Amino acid sequence: MISVRLQGSSRNFAVGKIICLGRNYAEHIKELGNETPAEPVVFLKPATSLIRAGEKVLIPSYSRECHHEVELAVLIGRYARNIPAHAAYEHVAGYGVALDMTLRDVQERLKKKGLPWEIAKAFDTSCPISDFASRDRVADPHNLRIRLWVNDELRQDGNTGQMIHRIPEILAYVSGIFTLEEGDIILTGTPAGVGPVRGGDQIHAEIEGLGGLDVSVE
Ligand code: MG
Repeated sequence: MISVRLQGSSRNFAVGKIICLGRNYAEHIKELGNETPAEPVVFLKPATSLIRAGEKVLIPSYSRECHHEVELAVLIGRYARNIPAHAAYEHVAGYGVALDMTLRDVQERLKKKGLPWEIAKAFDTSCPISDFASRDRVADPHNLRIRLWVNDELRQDGNTGQMIHRIPEILAYVSGIFTLEEGDIILTGTPAGVGPVRGGDQIHAEIEGLGGLDVSVE
């Protein structure tokens, strides 16, 4: 069983599914030349894609271009199905720092053919994740600076206020498709500045008030 930790509590959350949003920051949509979708772009990662701080991202042999994407992660604390946006925060246990590691070359090939992205997004080690800060310690999850460095070079520097679809709307939307259970995690999309990493690189990600996350690339 794969679990994550909520800081300041003895509770561990067994992770069920990881639901990810794509194209949720305007500047990132532009840098990849994508169209802005009318509805959220959603895909899944399995719990087996998770790794913890200090562990290694292993780039699969079928890719030559693995990109970093730093994202605000939302930990679900309570069953949710078809919930309205105004009740969404009651279902949130906490917030953390996540990376949505992406095999960009593989994803581009699949996108052109209209095929699903999972082998580019959901492979083992594709989801490094921090411990979570409890919801009541975060005054406004949409006013947090979000940054990522590779080998001490700043690559991504945004603010969670730049999201197109915000947490209440995201939870209302995804809970109408997938039943959300305690321990599910939602990744809310990445700001601009994504780019490649290589074997030996050190990645440091940080979200204001939530702390940092360090992993290396094998
Ligand atoms: Mg992403």
